[in-house]
Amino acid sequence: MKVLIANLGSTSLKWRLFDFSNGQEQMLHKGGFERVADYPQAINDCLGQLTAAGVIKTGAELAAVGFKTIMARGYNGCVRLDEAVVSAMEAFSDIAPAHNPPYITGIRLFAQQMPEVPLVGLFETAFYQWISPAASRYAVPEDWHAAGVRRWGFHGASHKFIAERSAELLGRQDVAERARRLYVNQGAAPVAAPSLRVISCHLGGSSSVTGIRDGVALGTSMGLSPQSGLPQNNRVGDLDSFALPYITRALGLSLDEAEKILCQDSGLKALSGGFNDIRDIEAQARQGNAKAQLALDVLVQQARHWIGAFLLELDGADALVFTAGIGENNSTVREAVCRNLSGLGLKLDPEKNRSVKAVEAVISAPDSRVKIMVVPANEELVVAREVKRFLENAAR
Ligand code: ADP
Repeated sequence: MKVLIANLGSTSLKWRLFDFSNGQEQMLHKGGFERVADYPQAINDCLGQLTAAGVIKTGAELAAVGFKTIMARGYNGCVRLDEAVVSAMEAFSDIAPAHNPPYITGIRLFAQQMPEVPLVGLFETAFYQWISPAASRYAVPEDWHAAGVRRWGFHGASHKFIAERSAELLGRQDVAERARRLYVNQGAAPVAAPSLRVISCHLGGSSSVTGIRDGVALGTSMGLSPQSGLPQNNRVGDLDSFALPYITRALGLSLDEAEKILCQDSGLKALSGGFNDIRDIEAQARQGNAKAQLALDVLVQQARHWIGAFLLELDGADALVFTAGIGENNSTVREAVCRNLSGLGLKLDPEKNRSVKAVEAVISAPDSRVKIMVVPANEELVVAREVKRFLENAAR
């Protein structure tokens, strides 16, 4: 069974092709285009590259195209992306304006170009379907909640990968297996198992922290929208809801203008005075740019805030795991996040930390009660596995 995973940006198309034939799990091909002007052509060119590489003969050989979709009104889990689901994604475009529109456009184009191939989405919200009502509910009237104003949580595929992989790396095959078996569509809450407590710290273009017990998320830093939680590269992160009516009146902004600023010109970009890549922000901070230093400090402070929340909720932790672009590559941020936590059982090995970049590694000191780890993200694999499971269940 060959499953193509397509990662859709507003001007980019990236893909990975997985083969699940004969019980194996193999990535056959990966590639992508940036600055795409003609999306239908890019889809054709993607198929062209796959056939030229000899990994498929025609598009019809694909069992499905899978997408790491963000959110849809009334849908969660892993679902067939028919027009009803795509319309439900449109109904939540106001909540995910940077994410849903490119997926909606791209999925419709895939449907036109490859009508014979099922399109399947794993929603980023799926990993949080078992968080408690106390952790998901905002203190808003019932009809707001019913309309979708609640904590959804995002980066689900990334944190699910960390849930599974960190358990394996900690020698807990039992928890890893259980987490792997946990199908996002199975509905029932998972039963208790021997406890493994993991805090997954996804620091990248966008960032979030999730507390995981035995492979299941307890809660997460992101709330209603991907604009919440930690400051993102150009999106705001957590903000008191009353800032919005106040600032529209105080600065004479329309709601649309304010929304655009929250989505495109806030976060690390706003704090640092225009830089949204952590490499540039760090270089600026080193040269004495105080705004850039503040951007780093706010990111670190917020990461620690949420790590602290889950340390409490999990009653400690077995592991703190760093993943995604910043978490995997940036030892300075990791060091700042872990500073002065020995009382809570987290002690970094500074030299080990500095030597680790984009590889699986333990970076805590031998006497650290909590293992501190780096685990490179593999969200596409999680989506591909769920798509495979969806197809197998659908065929039953
Ligand atoms: P996205 O969330 O858009 O997928 P990433 O997870 O790649 O993005 O994270 C992007 C951030 O990670 C940027 O701030 C970038 O500076 C940092 N980053 C990505 N790759 C590297 C690298 N090789 N070295 C240092 N920093 C990196």
